Amino acid sequence: MNVIDVILAKRDGRELTDPQIDWVIRAYTAGVVADEQMSALAMAILLNGMNRREINRWTDAMIGTGIRMDFSALDRPTADKHSTGGVGDKITLPLAPLVAACGAAVPQLSGRGLGHTGGTLDKLESIPGWRATLSTEEMLAVLREVGAVICAAGDGLAPADKKLYALRDVTGTVESIPLIASSIMSKKIAEGTRALVLDVKVGSGAFMKTREQARLLAETMVALGTDHGVNTVALLTDMEVPLGLTAGNALEVRESLEVLAGGGPADVVELTLALAREMLAAAGIDGVDPAEKLADGSAMDVWKRMIRAQGGDPEAGLAVAKEQHVLLAPASGTLTRLDALAVGVAAWRLGAGRARKEDPVQAGAGIELHAKPGDAVTAGTPLLTLHTDTPDRFEAALDDLTCSYTIADDAETGYSPRPLILERVSA
Ligand code: URA
Repeated sequence: MNVIDVILAKRDGRELTDPQIDWVIRAYTAGVVADEQMSALAMAILLNGMNRREINRWTDAMIGTGIRMDFSALDRPTADKHSTGGVGDKITLPLAPLVAACGAAVPQLSGRGLGHTGGTLDKLESIPGWRATLSTEEMLAVLREVGAVICAAGDGLAPADKKLYALRDVTGTVESIPLIASSIMSKKIAEGTRALVLDVKVGSGAFMKTREQARLLAETMVALGTDHGVNTVALLTDMEVPLGLTAGNALEVRESLEVLAGGGPADVVELTLALAREMLAAAGIDGVDPAEKLADGSAMDVWKRMIRAQGGDPEAGLAVAKEQHVLLAPASGTLTRLDALAVGVAAWRLGAGRARKEDPVQAGAGIELHAKPGDAVTAGTPLLTLHTDTPDRFEAALDDLTCSYTIADDAETGYSPRPLILERVSA
């Protein structure tokens, strides 16, 4: 096999054969195909696409470079959720214990944040003592005893994807639907869940800026899951506006605890319940109402056991940033727009996120929203509170937020609420 032939085939718009795909993924992982050759191939795929057979084979080849997990010995069906990432997206935190409280086993292998979208592990690490890295045996033990585990995906799952994703990140080849779909699904299929619900975000704060792109990504991932025997459905959900009233690690844990205590912002509760119902249906569990499990405290109970099982203290106080700056509403009226991307970037600048994967994050940094689109605001009252340990970051974050919102006169708003859940995609 010759890598140049593989690159030329895709450059010229031809289909890759199964042996070509198997070989190139194996050879790249082993270091036989060089980074510059793989980046040329990734760019050819980004420009010319792959069909369903090629995407399936590409995914299988990446799975084949690592281990596959097996949850078949558990006494409950497994269900997992994956979000394509957004601003204020803390849903995994209340969702995993909630779905476990309803009778499923939830193995949630998660990542850290990069850029303006936060990472689930960074959020949980703001809980004193909590440990993201577990061995496979530890992970299975927590899953068996508690019903839910949220931990770092080990290096053993689809190592080809790890190497390829890092390359795509620096070669302008992330935004390819076949490459995104195979990257996400190779890890989920290797993880071994039998049911998977995908939350595909659409809007300024998401990877996919348009509904059409998001639908195509969702359809591609649902087809991949289905072809691999994973019962997969996707919801397309709005990410023009941050989710909930917080973006930032400890701030989002605090908001998740409100949801687990039966309160919390309406949009976070709505999406948590919608995803929980989809996960339970996909896992074949019926007759359980997740809303009751939030109201009666059983989801909170699973949360506390899950945090303790990973070394954390669920009763410990969460980090609070050393400094706060309150941004006041400059006018009275109706808030008609609050841009998710601008809020995400500002939270990142305040220290909630990282620019390189080895950077530390500040547990207390982030942004608190005092109003959401549709709310009335009064001039001179708080609109946003910025939190950071390093106040020299306020200026840049405030610059990001300058054009991030619109306040319209009540008389002329014409504001109509945006639905949170836009569409459902199934096989
Ligand atoms: N997340 C992934 O895991 N892979 C991608 O390609 C994009 C987002």
